[in-house]
Amino acid sequence: MYMPKSLKKGETEQKMEYLFYLFIFIIGIVFGSFYTLAVYRIPKKEDILHTHSYCPECQHKLGFLDLIPLFSYAFLRGKCRYCGKKIRPRYFIIEFISGCFFVALAYLMKFNVENLTAIKAIDFSFMVLYFTYIILMAGIDKENRQIQKGVNIYGIAISIGYMIYLYIIEEPSIYRYGIYLMFSIVCLGLDSITFRKYAKHTYIYGLIITTIIMAIFTGEFVMYETVLTVLLAIAIYVAIKKIQNKRKKDKEPVFQKMQIGYMLGIANIAFFLFVMFCQRTF
Ligand SMILES: [Zn+2]
Repeated sequence: MYMPKSLKKGETEQKMEYLFYLFIFIIGIVFGSFYTLAVYRIPKKEDILHTHSYCPECQHKLGFLDLIPLFSYAFLRGKCRYCGKKIRPRYFIIEFISGCFFVALAYLMKFNVENLTAIKAIDFSFMVLYFTYIILMAGIDKENRQIQKGVNIYGIAISIGYMIYLYIIEEPSIYRYGIYLMFSIVCLGLDSITFRKYAKHTYIYGLIITTIIMAIFTGEFVMYETVLTVLLAIAIYVAIKKIQNKRKKDKEPVFQKMQIGYMLGIANIAFFLFVMFCQRTF
């Protein structure tokens, strides 16, 4: 059968593109596997890079076959190989979401085989570092209701790196972002020095720093959308709780239990992907 040369070439490119996205997906699930470990260990102040992985139930060290993202969970049917205790599906879910996010990000940033430029790769890497920040912040908040200071320091550090990058490529937004960054460092300082005793303030300072980092990486527009959505969600939730509490006639503190960082993280990533999707399509 006659096949025009251009079509053949197109097919190869298509295959290369699928392969590229598969590669990105694998990187994503490897990161996802790191996220599950970090979210579990950081609040316990355990080493996240050097200590061997172990089962949280039986403390058995995990071997290579137990540590393959997604596949180990599927093959072991969600159970520990050594003690048979159920592993929370959270591990599988975070790995899978992370893989999908990496692919979506590459696709929306038009980062593919045809334009593998250094700039695109750097852009993509910064977004990966940012996503790492959001997952760690939101994950730890969901599990423990706290914004980890160490995670926020990581967030500020990558913000500084990103600012230097924006300066080099002469992005005009850098001056505004510079002011934000100063403000977030001031917040971190205030939090460390003045309000150490009050856990409530620490949480709010943590949230302020988080929103600033969001503005730097996803832009002010997405940050405002994120904050407004979360505020609206909180208002509705508090209103419902108040009505329920009136009936019950006991006053349980509502606000102190809400994982606001977790809510911000989900809303931010959703809006960010949505805005990028609109920009790519229209
Ligand atoms: Zn076990």
